[in-house]
Amino acid sequence: MFNKILIANRGEIACRVIKTAREMGIATVAVYSDADSQALHVHMADEAIHIGPSPARDSYLLAERILDAAVTTNADAIHPGYGFLSENAGFAQACAEAGVVFIGPPTAAIEAMGSKSAAKRIMEQAGVPLVPGYHGDDQDPAILKQSADNMGYPVLLKATAGGGGKGMRQVWSADEFDEALAAAMREAMAGFGDDNMLVEKYLTKPRHVELQVFCDNHGNGVYLAERDCSVQRRHQKVIEEAPAPGMTEALRQRMGDAAVTAARAIDYRGAGTVEFLLDEDGSFYFMEMNTRLQVEHPVTEMITGQDLVRWQLLVASGAPLPLTQEQVRINGHAFEARVYAEDPDNDFLPATGTLGYLQPPAESRHVRVDTGVRQGDEISVYYDPMIAKLIVWDENRERALQRLASALAEYRIGGTVTNLEFLYNLSTSRPFVEAELDTGFIEKHSDLIF
Ligand code: ADP
Repeated sequence: MFNKILIANRGEIACRVIKTAREMGIATVAVYSDADSQALHVHMADEAIHIGPSPARDSYLLAERILDAAVTTNADAIHPGYGFLSENAGFAQACAEAGVVFIGPPTAAIEAMGSKSAAKRIMEQAGVPLVPGYHGDDQDPAILKQSADNMGYPVLLKATAGGGGKGMRQVWSADEFDEALAAAMREAMAGFGDDNMLVEKYLTKPRHVELQVFCDNHGNGVYLAERDCSVQRRHQKVIEEAPAPGMTEALRQRMGDAAVTAARAIDYRGAGTVEFLLDEDGSFYFMEMNTRLQVEHPVTEMITGQDLVRWQLLVASGAPLPLTQEQVRINGHAFEARVYAEDPDNDFLPATGTLGYLQPPAESRHVRVDTGVRQGDEISVYYDPMIAKLIVWDENRERALQRLASALAEYRIGGTVTNLEFLYNLSTSRPFVEAELDTGFIEKHSDLIF
C-alpha cells in the first residue's frame, strides 16, 4: 500500500479522500489555492502545498504544478477526486511518466471515454445497447440533419466533447433543426473548444440509472448496484438514490453485466460509472462512462457497506478487489441531496457569502454529511458553490425519505441563500414520495416544488 498520497482537489471530496487515507494509515498531502489557504482539507491533511492563485485554471488545473508538489513531497500516488484533472488523460500520462501512481484508470481508458461519439462506437462493438443515433465523424450539417430526419423527431444534439449538460439541444421538428444545431455548436465551441456533434433519439420519459463498476489489475470486474439520478435540473443531478426504485434483480443483473462489459471493452481499472437511460419499457441504453469517482458515490457506500475510496486505493496499489460479484450485498435505501449556495427563486444563480452560521443535522448511522466547509468559511465565486452532500440511509425507501426530510428540516445555514427549502419541498412532494421519476421531474412538477 502507498505510504503517502497527494489529493489534487479541494472541498468535500478532498476531505472525503483524506478521511479514508487516514483510516488506512496513509499520509496525505493537500494542495490549495490562495482562496483555500485556511480550508478544511488543508487542515485535515498531514501536509499542504500552495499551488497558486484562486482561479482554478491558475491552481487546481495546473497539472505540472500539482505533479511537482507530489514529487517534492515524495507522494507515491495522486488522487484526483472528481472534476478538475480527474478525467484529464494528459495528466494521468504525466503522472505515469513521473513515476507517481494516478489513482484512476489507465490513460487509454480515459481517452476512449473522453469523446462521446468515440465511446459510443466502442460500446456498439462490445454489444452494449446504445440510444439509436448518429455518432460519425462526418460533421456535414446536411448529414446530421438527414440522420435526424431518418430517426424521427424529437432528437437530442450533443457535443461529443460535452459534459455537464452543455452543448445539448432538444429538437422537436425538422424546421427547428438548423437553428438548434448552430446554437449547440456555438455553446460547445465556447465550452469545450470543439463543436463536433452527435445526434440521438430523444427519449421523452427516461430515467437516469447508472451502475457503479470496479475493475482491478487481476482481471476481476464487479458492479456495486445502481443509482437513480433522474431528478435533475438542466441535466445536473439534484437528488440521487440507491437502489433505483422498482429495480428488479433480473434487470440489475442485465444492466450490471452490460456495465462490466463496457468497462472491460476499454480495459478499465479502478472506479467507474456507466450511465444508462432506462426507458419506461425496461430497455436501457448506454449514455457515457465516467472514469472517476462520482459525486454521488456515497449512496452506493450506504447500501453496500463498502468504502469506495478504500477500494480505489487498494486497486491502484495493485491489490485485488475486496469482493466478488456474489459477495456484493445490498441493504436498505439511501438518498443524497446536494446542498448548494444558490438561489432557487432566481434561476438557481450561484450565491456567495460567509457561512456565519452552520448547523448540519447530527450525524449517525442514518445521517452522513460530506462537506468541505466549516462555520465561518466562505463560499467564493471561484469554485462550485456546493456546501455539502447530505446522505441518509434506512432500511427502506419510505423510511429513508423520512430521514431525508427531517435532516433537511434540521439543517441551518446562515450567511448565504441555499437550496435547502427547495430540496425539502422536492423530497416531500407527492410524486417524489411515490417515485414517479424521470429526467423531466423538476420541470414537470415545478408547481409542487417552488
Ligand atoms: P453530460 O455529459 O453533458 O452530462 P449526458 O450525455 O450524460 O451529458 O446527458 C446528461 C443528461 O441528459 C442525462 O442524464 C439525461 O437526463 C439527458 N439525456 C441524455 N441523452 C438523452 C436522450 N437521448 N434522450 C433523453 N434524455 C437524454
